[in-house]
Amino acid sequence: QDNADYLISRIRSIPGFPKEGINFRDFMPVLADAKAFGLMLDALEQALPVPADEFDAIAGLEARGFLFGPALAARLGKGFIAVRKAGKLPPETIGESYALEYGTATIEIESGMVAPGERVLIVDDLIATGGTAKAAADLIRRAGGEVAGFSFVMELIGLDGLAVLGDVPSSTLVTMP
Ligand code: 5GP
Repeated sequence: QDNADYLISRIRSIPGFPKEGINFRDFMPVLADAKAFGLMLDALEQALPVPADEFDAIAGLEARGFLFGPALAARLGKGFIAVRKAGKLPPETIGESYALEYGTATIEIESGMVAPGERVLIVDDLIATGGTAKAAADLIRRAGGEVAGFSFVMELIGLDGLAVLGDVPSSTLVTMP
């Protein structure tokens, strides 16, 4: 419990960022603190939604999924697949568009990054509506992979984001309003 409290104490909340009405949850101070960063990786490893031998690679979402996904992948002896915002990767790419509150967004991976039938764990810092994670799952599947599970550091409660992910196991370290 002390470790959980320590980790949570390093998550910063910024009311009104990036716009009015949003209470932004910032885990950069966790990464900046060696003890908290280690505790977060330990906790992610302990809370894996499926045993580590049931997936082959970790896919992380730009940008904050890039900050701990590779560290977790290295610990577990897995490869890391970067899911980027549109337009950043060299061709060929596979893209997936999804609805935002206003407009749409597109995420991409490089073709050939997912081996046929490869089992992929998707990671991100935070799940809110679940739209981003769902799009990442659709992208991995369209690329020929299988989604083994989702790992999040934080979940915003009340939005039911995990419900849109379907019948795939997930884990979250911290739930916040
Ligand atoms: P969703 O698609 O689930 O509604 O939103 C999740 C995506 O938006 C994630 O990629 C996450 O990084 C970002 N996001 C939304 N709200 C927050 C927040 O309060 N803090 C952080 N760090 N990211 C957020």
